[in-house]
Amino acid sequence: MRIDKYLANMNVGSRKEVHVLIKKGIVTVNGDVVKTPKQQVKESDEVLVDGQEVNYQKYHYFLMNKPKGVLSATEDRSQRTVISLLKPQDQYQGITPVGRLDKDTTGLLLLTNDGQLNHELLAPNKHVDKIYRAKIAGVADDETVKTFASGMTLGDGTKLKPAELKILAQDEEHDSSEIEIKIREGKYHQIKRMFGAVGMKVVELERISMGKLKLPKDLKRGNYIELSLDDVSKIK
Ligand code: URA
Repeated sequence: MRIDKYLANMNVGSRKEVHVLIKKGIVTVNGDVVKTPKQQVKESDEVLVDGQEVNYQKYHYFLMNKPKGVLSATEDRSQRTVISLLKPQDQYQGITPVGRLDKDTTGLLLLTNDGQLNHELLAPNKHVDKIYRAKIAGVADDETVKTFASGMTLGDGTKLKPAELKILAQDEEHDSSEIEIKIREGKYHQIKRMFGAVGMKVVELERISMGKLKLPKDLKRGNYIELSLDDVSKIK
């Protein structure tokens, strides 16, 4: 890979800024000053900027606040995907969303090019807890809490693990509720189908946590942050 791309990927600066550093003569590869941004580097090379080592990070992890109206997919012929919301320099080879949120669901979505982590977080026996907030058409009550806690069976025979339902607000007059729900699995339209099975409808759905990762309150919909390896090690 070219040294300017390598340094930009490492968040040392934009390509333009990296060119300035190279011009200044403060970028070295294996002890030799880099003379041109076109110079090729390998992962095993020792790259220093102003005497500081830049370690090549092969994998990248982004935490996005997914907005409504975009698909949790890598590409689609006609619709916008979460990948298209990443800046071009963050659209690494192999980057995919970890699991899916429905098109109209918002909130925490992890994106990575680390296939191993993606696989581990989605493997049926390793699923991590996920917490969602939702607005519901219908009045969820203690009976609903018990039904969800018992591990319900959906109409098509899908047997679910127990889910924790917390009722945040009930509004009998408008036949609506606000709830928080914690699930372990990630079955297709799981939460919508769970409420459907008890005669209610999910009106709005937002994922607020995944394992120990929480959706930062100040992260606007459509925006994302890069996670450190330390943050990532805390997910499971
Ligand atoms: N359950 C759903 O029904 N939809 C989602 O997007 C996530 C969980």
